[in-house]
Amino acid sequence: MKSVAVIGAGISGLTAAFYVRKFAQEAGEEVDVTLLEASNRTGGKIRSEHYKGYVIEAGSNGFLDNKPWTLELCDDLGISSRLMPSKDIARRRFIYLDGRLRELPASAVGFLFSDILSWKGKLRMALEPFTKPAKEEDETIASFVRRHLGEEALRKLVAPMVSGVFAGDPYKMSLKSAFPVMAALEKEGNGSLMRAALKRMKKAKEMKKKLAELEKQGKRVYKPGSAAGPGGVLTSFPEGIEYLTQTLASRLEDKLLLGKEAASIERSEDGYVVHLAKRGSVACDAVVVAAPAYAAASMLESLDAKVAEELRGIPYTKLAVVAFGYERSEIKHDLNGFGFLVPHEEGKTILGCLWDSSMFDHRAPEGKALLRMMVGGARAEEKALLSDEELIEACRRDLRDTMGIDAEPEMVRIYRHQRAIPQYLVGHAARLERIEARLRDFPGVVLTGNAYRGVGINDCVRQAKEAAKRVVEFITKKSPN
Ligand SMILES: Cc1cc2nc3c(=O)[nH]c(=O)nc-3n(C[C@H](O)[C@H](O)[C@H](O)COP(=O)(O)OP(=O)(O)OC[C@H]3O[C@@H](n4cnc5c(N)ncnc54)[C@H](O)[C@@H]3O)c2cc1C
Repeated sequence: MKSVAVIGAGISGLTAAFYVRKFAQEAGEEVDVTLLEASNRTGGKIRSEHYKGYVIEAGSNGFLDNKPWTLELCDDLGISSRLMPSKDIARRRFIYLDGRLRELPASAVGFLFSDILSWKGKLRMALEPFTKPAKEEDETIASFVRRHLGEEALRKLVAPMVSGVFAGDPYKMSLKSAFPVMAALEKEGNGSLMRAALKRMKKAKEMKKKLAELEKQGKRVYKPGSAAGPGGVLTSFPEGIEYLTQTLASRLEDKLLLGKEAASIERSEDGYVVHLAKRGSVACDAVVVAAPAYAAASMLESLDAKVAEELRGIPYTKLAVVAFGYERSEIKHDLNGFGFLVPHEEGKTILGCLWDSSMFDHRAPEGKALLRMMVGGARAEEKALLSDEELIEACRRDLRDTMGIDAEPEMVRIYRHQRAIPQYLVGHAARLERIEARLRDFPGVVLTGNAYRGVGINDCVRQAKEAAKRVVEFITKKSPN
């Protein structure tokens, strides 16, 4: 029987382990999968804490249903009937600008009439079809947005969105690695996003008809985004998004080993040996490394020091998540929406605030409200290191300034992520190519996880599924029959 070790039981490792088993079974190959997890729990960055009647997300609060991968995983696990889409009201998103919250329009026409950008800023955006080509093949998000939409759109719209998704710095992050769709659109529109959008609009009517037909037949459709936010509906479970990783873990049963930190990977005569930090080792034909890049670096040091060095070059940001529970009656604001983002220039401590109990049912007890703030990120890492008291004080101050909330929260939880989200800086794509080239000397060793090609749950699931496919192809070829 072939054996595969998977390292790291976040969504990436759990998904990889699940699909290695599934694909091997489909290929008629018997495989023994062992999942090694350093900590005493599964889920990694996904953690839904049930506390005083609240369901509080320490990290991710769900995935978008405009991509197929997580939905397909839920189908494969038989848990699709438990999926809980966010409420329609969560389509409304806000931004805090010049001292007040403003709703982000859902369409380009809406933007034209909104007061989010000045007339000068809007005129600059209108010049988008005349965008100059990029000077560099791999440019920063800031440089891309400046070329296409101008400085004001960068500061007021795109930079806050980058901190909302990556807790990242648009002046350092790579456009093509962080937002490959935008890079593809630019190509499609011969250098202009607007031309690409117009091209797509022509096809949209036809597509709408097709989607409506598919929907009628009971098929799933993946809807495109709007100007106010990414496409799709944020989706979770009544128990929180951790229900997904817990279900995956339950399918692995005794082959999931908690408290087992992988220290190094060595080649053996007929495969690989994963040495554990404390004691013991696991011999296997193939290894999926689904731990964060810095941990993968230590494990791979003995196989290839250059790969380890490249992996260490992928930085992570620090982030604190602060959750406040309130008596609903003590908040004057209607909380009708997803929440809001705060541009860096507004000088607040919070990067934004999510109105969790408005987005989803079951997030707060009857008559209460749950708000979650993000603090820190690549442009203000030191703030993630504030003491609990300082964090609470700063978040309360910011909620007073932005939403007029004076009340004292009746519930407070703080979750700290020392290395929250990997940052795809300029040069990331080239780094991945170098890593992959060197790993060709180690067939059967596959890297997956949020450090490489997408940080969202959907992208982690997609990459893990691809990793599982590669591993099963490898062990099947290796089989003597
Ligand atoms: C605050 C926050 C909010 C987010 N919000 C969203 C959101 O709303 N929607 C969305 O789609 N995404 C969101 N994300 C991103 C998404 O949650 C993560 O990118 C994803 O969960 C990462 O999964 P992973 O399995 O790749 O890595 P991780 O979750 O980091 O898992 C890696 C695992 O490897 C283990 N490990 C480490 N070293 C070793 C070792 N030596 N041996 C064995 N095991 C080891 C770790 O303990 C961990 O369990 C958010 C992330 C954060 C931090």
